[in-house]
Amino acid sequence: MTNPTFDLIVVGAGGGPDECDISAYLLKPSDASWEDGIIGLEAGSGPGALSRILRADPQLFRSEEEGPATTYTARQIYSFVTCFLVTHAHLDHISSLVLSAGSLGGGRKRICATSAVLKDIETAFSNRLWPNLASWDKDDSPQKYLYTSLQADSTNYNPLLPQISVRPMTISHGCNNQGEYDSTAFFLKHNKTGSEFLFFGDVESDVVSSSRRGGEVAERVVGGLGKVWKVCAPKIPLVLSAIFIECSWAQDRPDALLFGHLKPEHLVNELKVLAEEVTALRRSRASSGARAVQQPARKKRRKINGVHDIRGADPHHYTPLAPFPPSSSTSPPPLAGVRIFITHCKEDFKRHLGANREIILSQVKALVEAAGLGVEVHAVKQGERIGNVLTH
Ligand SMILES: [Zn+2]
Ligand SMILES: [Zn+2]
Repeated sequence: MTNPTFDLIVVGAGGGPDECDISAYLLKPSDASWEDGIIGLEAGSGPGALSRILRADPQLFRSEEEGPATTYTARQIYSFVTCFLVTHAHLDHISSLVLSAGSLGGGRKRICATSAVLKDIETAFSNRLWPNLASWDKDDSPQKYLYTSLQADSTNYNPLLPQISVRPMTISHGCNNQGEYDSTAFFLKHNKTGSEFLFFGDVESDVVSSSRRGGEVAERVVGGLGKVWKVCAPKIPLVLSAIFIECSWAQDRPDALLFGHLKPEHLVNELKVLAEEVTALRRSRASSGARAVQQPARKKRRKINGVHDIRGADPHHYTPLAPFPPSSSTSPPPLAGVRIFITHCKEDFKRHLGANREIILSQVKALVEAAGLGVEVHAVKQGERIGNVLTH
């Protein structure tokens, strides 16, 4: 039996140029109400988009406990936001954060991001592009956002809400004329259950990064996606079963015009890297598991009433993956039980809105099936509530 762990509302799912539907998600733990605090995960679209969504679905934020009569306005919902968690400072991820600064109601709100991303956001609140409505001073006006720097690439989880914490990792989002441009991937953890999901900001594949930097195409980029997959693999599928990742362009987009984004071929190649990590881990667990089964038996002979835990003393170092022989014909596919949520599909105004998302989704599905990875694939849509799929 599984229980929902997180509730997530899609305020905006696209990657532009449609400014009404750009990266913005509202997140809370399933075991708390919206009033108890919300994380704004990215802030491209905002209260304006949410107002339109609520006109079409006034009970989007209903809770089973409170019954179907629960309705909120967009202004109420944004007043419950206690922090915004931002992957990078491109406008399609922060435009509503800037435009609605000082107008959201509720208590003071934090902007949580790596120091490099906060430095970029500060340029928007420079009293030039927009008034200075954010500061580092804890005692400043509640109208002003409070910058909160997150250390990237450490093993620490930073508290966002009492029940949710985040581990940020730096990823590549291509380059500009000043050099490499970074974005962030977030491991979001429900503290009580230990359940996590992985959320990527805009990201480039390691193969494209590598070839852009003049390296061997097959070489894994240091600090690229490969390091995220290494952290992710031991958690799959019981600790972590949902990955939100962008796929901005359809397959016919040339690599030279990806501008730091993914297309289906590169996304599925990255998932294959993750699958290899998972398979290698299960292989080593299967062999060490066989040794561990013998070891307690030997110890038992020495210590009649001894209790031996093959998981080790620290439960945090135990990831409950069932080891299985990798070459067995009965082995499940490496990523069975994992759901991929595609985000950030770019709109093409020559087609109807959403057409690109459908094309990208069908292309990713076909490639995933051909690779036998065993993942489910879904393309997120504005106005969706995703909760029943983030389970523990
Ligand atoms: Zn973007
Ligand atoms: Zn971007």
